[in-house]
Amino acid sequence: MTKRVVLIGHPVAHSLSGAMQQAAFDALGIDAAYELWDRPPIELPDAIAELRADDVLGANITIPHKERVVPLIDRLTDEAHVTGAVNTITREGRRLVGHNTDVPGFATALDQLVGRAKMPRQAVVLGAGGGARAVVYGLIRVGFQRIVVFNRHLHRAEGLVKHFGRSAAHMELRAMPWHPSIIESELAKTKVLVNATSIGLSSDESPIPAGALTGDLLVLDLIYSRTRLLREAEAAGCTVRDGETMLLHQGAAAFTLWTGQPAPLDIMAEALANARAHGLRSTEGEPAGDETPAATAG
Ligand code: NDP
Repeated sequence: MTKRVVLIGHPVAHSLSGAMQQAAFDALGIDAAYELWDRPPIELPDAIAELRADDVLGANITIPHKERVVPLIDRLTDEAHVTGAVNTITREGRRLVGHNTDVPGFATALDQLVGRAKMPRQAVVLGAGGGARAVVYGLIRVGFQRIVVFNRHLHRAEGLVKHFGRSAAHMELRAMPWHPSIIESELAKTKVLVNATSIGLSSDESPIPAGALTGDLLVLDLIYSRTRLLREAEAAGCTVRDGETMLLHQGAAAFTLWTGQPAPLDIMAEALANARAHGLRSTEGEPAGDETPAATAG
């Protein structure tokens, strides 16, 4: 029986994850098909219930459901529990287990961004959604001592800070209002900037003014392309990376959870590159083009 792996999001059309995961299943001779389910929030509970069927190997969860799905899952791994966000589901019989492979995906991306330099201790994070939660947890885990989270809706950043509570008790985790002059003054005191908003996903906009970027910053944009933020940061002399590494490694970790096998990273990376060349996109960091405005992608 062909097994099914499902991506649930809204929207999900033309997913890069589909190309990447299907190539991995095919390369390893695993009889599985990766399906895209576009489900608005109101249909999420029914979609999750369908995952309990015998022919379902597991699922990915993407924008905007990563936090909303948590109460619908039977058991959470530590990473999913601490972040309060799920991007991958596996099945134990009819029970569903929620994982967060964005956390290891981000850890690999951060390592590559920092390279051989000493791991910094201060970061500014833009955004407070499911992606930002994986980022903040990843930063806390590698020993960051001060993390400032800016979000358009301040209450969501405050909710994130409150959620981390005890895991962040030994360090300073703060929510601040989305104001260019406050962001600029925090950036002057920091070494790492992570964009975990969807600004730049479907339009050529940057979340911050170019003048706020100074040459010694390390800048990671979770969006999988050369966003305006990355172009302006590079022009200012910053070290930059886009969301490709995180996308690849969260996908590889999910593949291993579903199949129990090491992920064929080279094949998945090649499938991503080919899919992009053919104009496919992802809700996980690939610009969505004109027909999918940022408001719906986020
Ligand atoms: P969510 O929908 O959970 O969060 C979206 C975030 O973007 C919120 O902080 C939201 O702020 C902010 N935002 C959206 N539009 C605007 C705007 N116009 N002005 C200011 N802020 C805005 O999405 P995720 O956290 O899951 O994803 C966020 C981004 O990270 C996306 O671009 C996604 O593609 C990328 N991503 C990439 C991954 C990868 O593997 N490379 C993995 C996970 C995410 P507010 O709360 O105020 O609405």
